Amino acid sequence: MFNIILFGPPGSGKGTQSEKLIEKYGLKHLSTGDLLRSEIASKTPLGLEAKNFMDKGQLVPDEVVIGMISSALDTNPHVPGFLFDGFPRTEAQSEALDKLLKLKKTEIGVVLALIVTEDELIKRLLNRGLTSGRPDDNNEEVIRARIVEYHQKTSAVAEYYKQFDKVVYVKGEGTVDEIFELLTSEIDQRNQPVTQ
Ligand code: ADP
Repeated sequence: MFNIILFGPPGSGKGTQSEKLIEKYGLKHLSTGDLLRSEIASKTPLGLEAKNFMDKGQLVPDEVVIGMISSALDTNPHVPGFLFDGFPRTEAQSEALDKLLKLKKTEIGVVLALIVTEDELIKRLLNRGLTSGRPDDNNEEVIRARIVEYHQKTSAVAEYYKQFDKVVYVKGEGTVDEIFELLTSEIDQRNQPVTQ
């Protein structure tokens, strides 16, 4: 199994690159943002709780997302690996993920961190808001709150994985294909091929 964390601030292109990476490597995509939005769409109690945080640009409580990831790991026992997108977002989530993976006798292979300037992030998110239908992309104040959450809580995730020498920084500006090339070359250097 080869498990990847795709890491970076909101708007850094994690969703776009995830789609391409899961196709190339056959990984199971676990996006906590997507999982939460599907809970909201189904109006579950978890979704209703999460929505209050998401609409304000704040992180959803750790225990909620950790529980969601734990059940997603259990329901996908036979995949070649997981691609985590938007998770972990705090140090507590990182520690919890390591424990869950250890129980499954596996670990994180690499943390790919996308680097994008703040001006570019805000531009991309406002642009996405025109078509995504996501309330948190429509409002510059909420976008700025998400970036503040990223700096206050999420950037610690890269620090956490640096102690295990797992973090690789990749330039997240350029064409989608250029960035994809950079990501796949990092993956292929660290992993024996997981393609079918
Ligand atoms: P983006 O990375 O563009 O902000 P996501 O879809 O990953 O978009 O996340 C949207 C929102 O969902 C976040 O602002 C946050 O409120 C919530 N969320 C997603 N993943 C997590 C997580 N791992 N921990 C806490 N909250 C999360």
